[in-house]
Amino acid sequence: MKVFVRDIAYRLENLAPLEYAESYDNVGLIVGSFHKEVKKVLITLDLTEEVFYESLKKKCDLIISFHPIIFKSIKNITGKTFSERVIIHALKNDISIYVIHTNLDVVWEGTSSYLSKLLRINREKVLVSKKETIKKLITYVPINYAEKVRNALFEAGAGNISNYSHCSYNFDGYGSYKGNKKTKPFLGKKEIFHIEKETCIGVIFPDYKLDIIKKTLFQNHPYEEIAYEVYNLENINPYIGIGFIGNLIENMNEHDFLFFLKEKMNLIYIRHSNLIEKEIQKVAMIPGSGRFGIEYAVKEKADVFISSDLKYHDFFKYEKKILIVDIGHYESEKFIKNLLKSFLDQNFTSISVFKSEVHTNPVKYFY
Ligand SMILES: [Zn+2]
Repeated sequence: MKVFVRDIAYRLENLAPLEYAESYDNVGLIVGSFHKEVKKVLITLDLTEEVFYESLKKKCDLIISFHPIIFKSIKNITGKTFSERVIIHALKNDISIYVIHTNLDVVWEGTSSYLSKLLRINREKVLVSKKETIKKLITYVPINYAEKVRNALFEAGAGNISNYSHCSYNFDGYGSYKGNKKTKPFLGKKEIFHIEKETCIGVIFPDYKLDIIKKTLFQNHPYEEIAYEVYNLENINPYIGIGFIGNLIENMNEHDFLFFLKEKMNLIYIRHSNLIEKEIQKVAMIPGSGRFGIEYAVKEKADVFISSDLKYHDFFKYEKKILIVDIGHYESEKFIKNLLKSFLDQNFTSISVFKSEVHTNPVKYFY
């Protein structure tokens, strides 16, 4: 079966909706066309010129990069930076470029899922929850149509609360209306006051599904004018957000834990704060730049916080409360290539997916 860029984008965006990306980010299809057929895909953390030449050598049609090749808007493309040169080469060679970044970071089956398995951690929840991800719909339906509308809303993605699906709240009451002469009321007659027994249905849904939920409501509700309300909820989804917190399957002393981390993540070195003389059980982690997460990890009483791009004073701050560990930005994210490869292999059996062999870490170590 032929696979097109749009098929791959659709699957990736089902896993990590574009709407979940941070405002500064630039995700989705960056270069190329959704209608292009794909036979070979190259996955990379960073799209450097070297990685681009690797894609040419491997005859790939699509490059999926974790870090965006374009962050800010550009006014001209003349080849003055490596990103511009890659874009020029990609267009000349008909290679598409797709980015999946902070949207992959915040979903439960995204960036953190691979790392928690690798480090043998039972995840409890995300460390820093994403706000404003839940909306609520209330609508009023004639009682004989309530089941149809409710089921259609479930089908469209409403009514999921963590491990429960088909959640809604329903009660019956009476709705009244009187149409003018231009109306064609589904029940009752125009220009005559009508009172009808209706079911009030309330369901929550992820905010990025607003359009499809409204479309589903309009297609399935029998009334000419549909009464409905949509609210933003303050509620937080514990499975959508940055990083994670959880418990090690087996507790370790600090020295053994650092050794374990170094081995599992194949690290050259680890920067860490003073040891806190405590067993490590509760682990908080944010792959990539995560210094904003330290306070959340302390609040959650984690024994260790692992991230990257931490500053000198971060290591002083929570003396004896938590072990602070910096494993490097590239090092904390390099396994994302494995995550994306196994996701694409599972979803597309007729294409070849390669992980870039280029070591794109711009930070070099002299030791
Ligand atoms: Zn990063």
